[in-house]
Amino acid sequence: MPIHEQSLIRPENLKTHEQLVVDGVDVSGHWSTFIESRVVTDYNEAMQEEITALPGGEYIHRCWQCGSCTNSCTVNAINADFNPRYWIYLIRMGMESELLRDKDIIWQCVSCNRCTYACPRDVVPEGVMKATAHWLELKGHTPKSPSMHFDEEFSGQVIERGKIEEGRIMQGFFRRTGQPLMQDWLVEMVKRMLRHLPVGMLARMGLATVLAPRTSGWSRARDAIREYVDEQHVKQRRALGLEDVIEAARQDAGAPARS
Ligand code: SF4
Ligand code: SF4
Repeated sequence: MPIHEQSLIRPENLKTHEQLVVDGVDVSGHWSTFIESRVVTDYNEAMQEEITALPGGEYIHRCWQCGSCTNSCTVNAINADFNPRYWIYLIRMGMESELLRDKDIIWQCVSCNRCTYACPRDVVPEGVMKATAHWLELKGHTPKSPSMHFDEEFSGQVIERGKIEEGRIMQGFFRRTGQPLMQDWLVEMVKRMLRHLPVGMLARMGLATVLAPRTSGWSRARDAIREYVDEQHVKQRRALGLEDVIEAARQDAGAPARS
């Protein structure tokens, strides 16, 4: 089975002289191709710790760069630039600017977890991809991705009511991502459901969409989960050095300092 690797040499770093004669020898064209020298000076030495502090990134330190994750990756099979092994390498080396070159495709992980099952070191590369996409958003390098909007909508409903209702999740997701609620594929799906599902089931589904199901006696659990989630968010922002930035912005805006 081939191992798909991304070349460390970017096309823009390859230079070729169309016309070049050296010591009387014509080395025009590909004979004069060379790699532009590259010096990395902006290492982020805390990068691995920052990713480790986010959910899913906890085991990144275990990676031994075997490449099994990239080799088994669903997205890599259609886009060779999607390379979990390479990104894990960049994070562990602290090569933030190199990672940022791929910032617009990292969120595209489809969470199939093929990499997770292939990894011999239990790194959970799928989690690392999630943590990295989250890190990019928290640091302001990318806008909130559709998958993050979906996760927030899903977990928001679980926390609020202790239950989810698929129709409401879809509505919330479309609203957050600016998509129309009436989409051709959705209309077709509803038509087929109306044609094929039992009336009783359809009635229950319709009722759940309108009423929003709730687990009885959920309010104490909801408050405890909210408190925990808020604590985790503070910890994560602190690990990424964002709490100080937020506090400084608050004080600039005239808000009292937090204890
Ligand atoms: S979970 Fe993401 S990174 Fe892992 S194989 Fe699937 S698409 Fe690739
Ligand atoms: S499969 Fe696991 S150990 Fe191998 S490169 Fe991927 S994350 Fe690292």
